[in-house]
Amino acid sequence: MAGCLSEADFVMVEEGFSTRDLLEQLTLGTSQATTEEVAAFFVADLGAVVRKHFCFLKCLPRVRPFYAVKCNNSPGVLKVLAELGLGFSCANKAEMELVQHIGVPASKIIYANPCKQIAHIKYAAKHGVRLLSFDNEMELAKVVKSHPSAKGAACLLRMVLCIATDDSHSRSRLSLKFGVSLKSCRQLLEDAKRNHVEVVGVSFHIGSGCPDPQAYARSIADARLVFEMGAELGHRMHILDLGGGFPGVEGAKVRFEEISSVVNSALDLYFPEGCGVDILAKLGRYYVTSAFTLAVSIIAKKEVLLEQPGREEENGSAPKTILYQLSEGEYGIFNSVLFDNTCPTPILPKKPSTEQPLYSSSLWGPVIDGCDCIAEGLWLPQLHVGDWLVFENMGAYTVGMGSLLGGAQTCRITYAMSRVAWGTG
Ligand code: PLP
Repeated sequence: MAGCLSEADFVMVEEGFSTRDLLEQLTLGTSQATTEEVAAFFVADLGAVVRKHFCFLKCLPRVRPFYAVKCNNSPGVLKVLAELGLGFSCANKAEMELVQHIGVPASKIIYANPCKQIAHIKYAAKHGVRLLSFDNEMELAKVVKSHPSAKGAACLLRMVLCIATDDSHSRSRLSLKFGVSLKSCRQLLEDAKRNHVEVVGVSFHIGSGCPDPQAYARSIADARLVFEMGAELGHRMHILDLGGGFPGVEGAKVRFEEISSVVNSALDLYFPEGCGVDILAKLGRYYVTSAFTLAVSIIAKKEVLLEQPGREEENGSAPKTILYQLSEGEYGIFNSVLFDNTCPTPILPKKPSTEQPLYSSSLWGPVIDGCDCIAEGLWLPQLHVGDWLVFENMGAYTVGMGSLLGGAQTCRITYAMSRVAWGTG
């Protein structure tokens, strides 16, 4: 690889290394004084991102991947994906600036937010970003007014119509807020025509954590109908955007391969090879979730006696539960507890021996709020302030979410990449 990412951006490791090895080195090498200062950090395996990319190309050969920057905007991730040739889906001006700063050309950026701030539309116009999404009449009018490329005979602006999906079974739903219903599409396509705006395609998002891969097939079928409406009105429709929602972890309920097979069949049926439609997807969690591991240290600890008359623990003491406080919580890096209903499981730096007693334990974030609970009902050995806990699969919607409410700073990220992955990219 050469270009956006260089060997200075990461620690080169040999094949067979594990992120845990690196974490261990970093936590063991952390002096007491540093632990007091740095209470959480990530280790990111960029090789895992590279492997995900090749898996994507193999499973969905007709789909061009774009990366949803909001999911994890860390420089290592953006650089490696730019290096691999991905396009970028940006939700605002800051994200467009970020990817342009690392050398991504405007032609590889989609401003994919159906509700945009006027200043951000103007920024897109000034910096050559011409592919934008919309899902309502007001937005169309706003873009026409604020994006100079929308005016005149040589209209360079291209708009993608974002349609709603039935995402009622998805863990995180997007169509509650975004996307137009099928029955309102014709009206919007007519409005665009009247305003001389070229609608070039359709996008959707089935939501994240969708248990039914057929949701993609249904939305692809809906998109076909909208393509036909658009063509009847004279729009040159040639972009189909499948959105995100592809799982980022190995043990997902519905596997990526299963989804790919449904998507490929639906594409063959509704958008067969040679139909002239450019098919793309805007993936977030798929690329980054499993690549990031988080280490968080215990910053405070409290033992609470459980008042259960007549109940004693084996050693004769009263039963107790231990509350551990971490520097990150639900209002920061562990927001998935709130939004995705996850139950983060810590990995202990040292596996407890079978003789070690286990105690009822819970993990809490730093905000003075009874809701800031990360995990309850755990049975852990006695841990201490300054001990590190490790959490895997922490790459999506975590970076940049440091608990500002709890006074935390942005977490440091140490990137690693194996020599083999570096060679294949
Ligand atoms: N595209 C859009 C418009 C989104 O809003 C999102 C995430 O919210 C994504 C793509 C990425 O979704 P995911 O992380 O589930 O792949």
